[in-house]
Amino acid sequence: MIISSSAEGIQALTAAYRDEGKTIGFVPTMGALHAGHLSLVKQAKTECDVTVVSIFVNPKQFGPTEDFKTYPRTLEADTDLLSPLEPDLLFTPTLEAIYPRSLNLSNLHYPLPEMASWYCGAIRPGHFEGVCTVVRRFFDLIRPNSAYFGEKDYQQLSIISQMVRDLSLPIRVVGCPILREPSGLAMSSRNQYLSKQDALHAATIYASFLHTHQIFLDNTTDTDLLRGAFLSQLSEHIVPEYIEIVDPISLEPQTEARFTDKILFAGRLGTTRLIDNYSL
Ligand code: AMP
Repeated sequence: MIISSSAEGIQALTAAYRDEGKTIGFVPTMGALHAGHLSLVKQAKTECDVTVVSIFVNPKQFGPTEDFKTYPRTLEADTDLLSPLEPDLLFTPTLEAIYPRSLNLSNLHYPLPEMASWYCGAIRPGHFEGVCTVVRRFFDLIRPNSAYFGEKDYQQLSIISQMVRDLSLPIRVVGCPILREPSGLAMSSRNQYLSKQDALHAATIYASFLHTHQIFLDNTTDTDLLRGAFLSQLSEHIVPEYIEIVDPISLEPQTEARFTDKILFAGRLGTTRLIDNYSL
């Protein structure tokens, strides 16, 4: 695993692979790696000749009151977790490598689709602008054939898929399944913030999905009723931000649920924000 922190370094290394005719798979992360991240790396490894992983806590996707400063940064442990999987390149850019003074950021600007203003977009203004900016910059530097994103961040995956279509980028966006703890809690770097007790409360999100799914299978399609079913199982310690049943591609909210619609959930447990989703 070659580690590079400079824009020129990663450009030269990936260009050399391209010249050899090798396909490049790219897995962007913010570090504090867990098995969910590793599953993306494994999938990239099986599908591409070369796998590039990035670790970069992107300031542009955090709001002024969010946890950018305290976000876990565990590069040594991350490297230890990645090494056995043998990705070819680990890109750990400096801030200057991603956003050099000489770069005209407006060249990276992508006019976001309407869906980016819904759900997490409404609660975290500027978040998806920040995500799309950094992902475009990574795509420009690395020029991957395939890029791997977790379904855990379903709205993010949908927006990036849309961005790649809108900009006609020659990149295959691959959505990878959510990895969960044995309790059903979706793995997340932010789970480190949770106490043991909190983790039990957080696991009720998954129990709520399963219950809602069962009510749907019992022939309830009214999404107001389904949202009520979800809330009935959710720990009262969790303050919901949104629960929506949406079309899996357009993310339009539905009034009558259909098979393969997604239940999108976000909520707060104390100061920790939890997001998750589930397919009907
Ligand atoms: P992050 O480091 O949180 O920005 O996540 C990097 C990538 O890993 C994103 O594409 C996430 O959707 C994905 N990811 C995070 N948690 C999980 C999980 N539990 N299962 C699968 N993918 C995940």
